[in-house]
Amino acid sequence: MELAERMSRLGTESAFDVFAKAQRLEAQGRSIIHLEIGQPDFPTPFPICEAAFRAMKDGYTGYTPAAGLLALREAIAEHISTTRNVEIHPDEVVVTPGAKPIIFFTLMALVNEGDEVIYPDPGFPIYQSVINFVGAQGIPLPLREEVGFRFHLDDLINAISARTRLLILNSPQNPTGGLLQAEDLAAIAELADRHNFYVLSDEIYSRILYEGKHISLIQFPGMKARTILLDGYSKTYAMTGWRLGYGVIPKHLVEGIVRLMINCNSCTCAFTQMAGIEALRGSQDFVNQMVAEFKHRRDTIVDGLNAIEGIHCLKPAGAFYVFPNVKDLPLSCNELADYFLNEAGVSLLAGTAFGKFGDGYLRISYANSLENLQVAIDRMRAAVMKL
Ligand code: PMP
Repeated sequence: MELAERMSRLGTESAFDVFAKAQRLEAQGRSIIHLEIGQPDFPTPFPICEAAFRAMKDGYTGYTPAAGLLALREAIAEHISTTRNVEIHPDEVVVTPGAKPIIFFTLMALVNEGDEVIYPDPGFPIYQSVINFVGAQGIPLPLREEVGFRFHLDDLINAISARTRLLILNSPQNPTGGLLQAEDLAAIAELADRHNFYVLSDEIYSRILYEGKHISLIQFPGMKARTILLDGYSKTYAMTGWRLGYGVIPKHLVEGIVRLMINCNSCTCAFTQMAGIEALRGSQDFVNQMVAEFKHRRDTIVDGLNAIEGIHCLKPAGAFYVFPNVKDLPLSCNELADYFLNEAGVSLLAGTAFGKFGDGYLRISYANSLENLQVAIDRMRAAVMKL
């Protein structure tokens, strides 16, 4: 049985493949430290779990409106209004099973075959995969290490054409941890208006920030009508397995996205949505503690990596990834990722998994204990010395 032709245009996220490969080695008795997968290593805070139990007991076990329960959309609208400094109405919110479908639905709903979509490179691989899937032309926007993995304005201007339909942004960023600055966003807002394109602003790591302030494109004048803001619960509340995310969407696009939801998954799990209200309205102590712990780990991993000869690592402002430069080592980043897995039992990703501008880098997720991070650094140092 052959797959339909369109499937040849759909990519994947190699983190899941590498994770499976590392698990196979573990099953053979090898000790592996997992630095490949991007999920907080904390359990979901108990009050959020309790809200889900309560909702189940209260009968939240059926379908909900496709766009999500009104009470949750109200909580999200309030949260975004206060954190992004812009007035959001619950009708502008669509709740999805995880935030990932917002990427898929936005591209399906907005982009025609032959349109151009600018996306960050290195960047989350799902963007490029879905851009290709809908038959659009992906135009990579290089993120440059020398400017803290932001973009050069000239690169953005050169990427824009009369066929540009959408620009995808992600800040704080996966895989680099980089953070866009107010001046970057102001330039984008001006260009989006002048060239009449939409922006998908992936803000899934907005709360995982150590220095600086999260600024959303949506708060720039006129940008609410052009911005699809993606955010969710997976990272902020350690809820990756719950599948709960959302988009804040220009009013005129909501109907199309909801129609895709109705065709695809009907709605998001009802009791999960109720837990999402508790997450936003309850105590935020968990988030603050988790971010403080991540910051400590970030400092440890950055210092540890920079002490290894041939590795240079910036200290990123957000997310829970570092993107060390390994161009001075004698192996390619793909060979190095295999080498660290097989020789050192450290599972991480080659930068090329995130696009061609990721060549010469590795992506390390430090969502793992300090002790494990320390062991990983020691093992990597020993492995590099053998090269
Ligand atoms: N955007 C980015 C940049 C991500 O890294 C992820 C998760 N890896 C997502 C979106 C999707 O998250 P989820 O579907 O779990 O909400």
